[in-house]
Amino acid sequence: MDVEFRSTGIYLPQIDLWLDNTEPCAATWISHGHSDHARGCHGKVIGTSTTLRFYRIRLWLAEGVEEPELYSLEYGERMDWNGARLTSYPAGHILGAAQLLIEFAGERLVYTGDIKLRPPLCGSQTEVIPCDRLIMESTFGLPIFKLLNRDEAIEKIVQFARACLAEGVSPVFAGYALGRGQEIVHVLCQAGIPTAVHGAIAKFIPAYEENGYAFPSWEPYQAKATTGKALVVVPAHGNILEAAGKNVRLAYVSGWAALDNARTRSGAEELIPYSDHGDFDELLTLACGSGARHIDVVHGYTAPFARILKSRGHSAAAPERVSLHTDIEAEG
Ligand SMILES: [Zn+2]
Repeated sequence: MDVEFRSTGIYLPQIDLWLDNTEPCAATWISHGHSDHARGCHGKVIGTSTTLRFYRIRLWLAEGVEEPELYSLEYGERMDWNGARLTSYPAGHILGAAQLLIEFAGERLVYTGDIKLRPPLCGSQTEVIPCDRLIMESTFGLPIFKLLNRDEAIEKIVQFARACLAEGVSPVFAGYALGRGQEIVHVLCQAGIPTAVHGAIAKFIPAYEENGYAFPSWEPYQAKATTGKALVVVPAHGNILEAAGKNVRLAYVSGWAALDNARTRSGAEELIPYSDHGDFDELLTLACGSGARHIDVVHGYTAPFARILKSRGHSAAAPERVSLHTDIEAEG
C-alpha cells in the first residue's frame, strides 16, 4: 500500500484517505481527540464516537461552514472504504483513542496514533494488532523513559494530595486539558478528596461520565475557594497559582517527569512519571509484537527509535515530515 508522509498528516492515495490530517481535506481518520489530531473542517471524518464527540467540541463551525459527515467506527467494528477494509481497536491513550487497521490488496497496515499498552486510568486497554506494516509513534522512544503503571500512579497522586491537605496546603495537579486532567480528577474523586477543576478540563468530564467514570466530589475551580481542596488545572495555571503566593504545592504528572531536570523545568515539588503514551519498553513490545515487515516511526524520538529497531533486526524508518505535534512537550 502506498503511504505518503506529508507535513499535515499521512495520506493513503490508493484509498483516498488521510490519517490525522490537521488541515481541511476530503476525508480523514482521526485517531483521538487531542487538538493536534482532531482539528480542521474536513469533508468526511471517521473515528470512534467518543473521538467524534471531542472533535465536535473542538470544531469551531463558523456560520455558513458545512459540518463534516461523521462516520463512527467503534472498537472492533469494520467498514468498507474505497476498496479497503477499516477496523478500529483501542489505543489506550485517552478515552476513545483508537488504532486503525487498514486491509488493502492483501496487506495489513496498522496506524497506532498515540498509544500506550498498559491499562490506562480511564479508557480501554489496547492490544497489539498483527500486521505487515506498522506506523507508530515514539514520544518516549528512548531507554531513559520508564514510567509508572496505573496503580502506582493512583497511589502517588492520592498520597501527595492527602499529605498536602493534612498540612493545610492545597495540592495542585497540572494536567493536559483532555485525558490526563480528567484521569487525575477521577482518581482524586474515587479517593473521596474534594477537588476543584479548571474549566478547560471540566468541560470534557460529561463525556467521561457517559462512559461510566464517576466523579463524585468535584466542583468548578474558583480562585477564592481553594482551601481544603485538591486543584486540577491546566499546566500554565499551576505556576500562576504558585506565583500568586497561594498556599499550594505542585505535582507534575507526565512522562517528562522521568527526566533528570524535570523538577527544574516544571517547578513542581512532586514528580509523578505517568503518561498516556507508552514508555520505551512498551513501544518496543508493540513494534516487535506486531510482526510487521516494516515499521515507520512518526512522532517523538523518531530517528533514534528507528535506529534502535534496526539494531534489533527490524526494517524501520523515520520518514521525513514536519511533526504532527506543534509542541511535543504539550502532551506526554
Ligand atoms: Zn494525543
